[in-house]
Amino acid sequence: MKKDILSYNMEELCAEMELIGEKKFRGKQIYEWLHTKRVHEFANMSNISSSLRTKLDENYCINSIKVVRKLESSLDNTVKYLYELSDGNHIESVLMEYKHGNSLCISTQVGCKMGCNFCASTIAGFRRHLLPSEMLLQVYEAEKNSGRHVDSIVLMGIGEPLDNFDNVVKFLQIISFETGKNLSLRHVSLSTCGLVDRIYDLAKYRFGLTLSISLHAVTDEKRSEIMPINKKYNISELIKACKDYIEITGRRISFEYAVIHGVNDTQADADGLIKLLKGMNCHVNLIPVNEIKERSYRSDKNALHDFLAALEKGGLNATIRRTLGADIDAACGQLRREYEF
Ligand code: SAH
Repeated sequence: MKKDILSYNMEELCAEMELIGEKKFRGKQIYEWLHTKRVHEFANMSNISSSLRTKLDENYCINSIKVVRKLESSLDNTVKYLYELSDGNHIESVLMEYKHGNSLCISTQVGCKMGCNFCASTIAGFRRHLLPSEMLLQVYEAEKNSGRHVDSIVLMGIGEPLDNFDNVVKFLQIISFETGKNLSLRHVSLSTCGLVDRIYDLAKYRFGLTLSISLHAVTDEKRSEIMPINKKYNISELIKACKDYIEITGRRISFEYAVIHGVNDTQADADGLIKLLKGMNCHVNLIPVNEIKERSYRSDKNALHDFLAALEKGGLNATIRRTLGADIDAACGQLRREYEF
């Protein structure tokens, strides 16, 4: 099988070239074609000899993904892409416009194993991990297709990024490398349902990214009911890992809390959240629930605003996430579900 050349970081690509009897600098040249010039055919790499281009063609493939549906909001500049991967699987990305620039939400897996019961991405289960190239291509294709520059990236689409740890790390290395997209990891957020062991692994890299924790409940009983991962890593283990992460990286953490009416939006829930997070270097992002047709969950506007007021009164730093692209909205993973199943 041909090797996936877009998934190599610079160091690996240079080592690959030496492995096939070429000079190391060829790796640099090819990397520049792939990631800076975004030329994705060996035949068009004009400073590479034809004999090396033939060798590359024989041993490596340049992965690609295809836009099969594109939904554009008429309310704001949100664009939702449904991509087809080279094996026929589908994933989603969403391009959103904020004051500080364009942000792209990308997928990290085809499907998801985590089983959070409010999330559409997990309903049909897990198919496979995405390769680093498939995460990069979501960015490259969105930029090419929209003509817009992606200024920040959130790993909040389909999948659990920390369950695809090595590929996500490789993606982060490539997207932030000076040759190529050269995106500061300060402009990247990674969201996890709370794989505690992997949070410690991530901390060791000391990336400047923002870690987002999908918390959604403040008692183990409630959290385990809506997020099965809590049975493996409970809230106190998760919070301990977060505190260690803040200590090791010096970065504040963002807690995601989907406010679900009748499930987690009472004064007692707000009090629990305040108790849990008080004094931590963190921010709470309240998310109005995206209604998915498989569940009856919804947010109540008044309860949501009362919840925010309670958190602020309790001294937490909290905001309600703005809803973008409401007219093209399909909660996380829903577009793919409509298309595939
Ligand atoms: N697996 C990762 C990232 C993908 S989900 C994680 O769990 O964090 C991205 C965010 O959307 C998470 O905070 C997730 O809990 C939230 N989410 C999923 N379904 C939702 C829904 N129907 N309404 C609101 N937020 C939802």
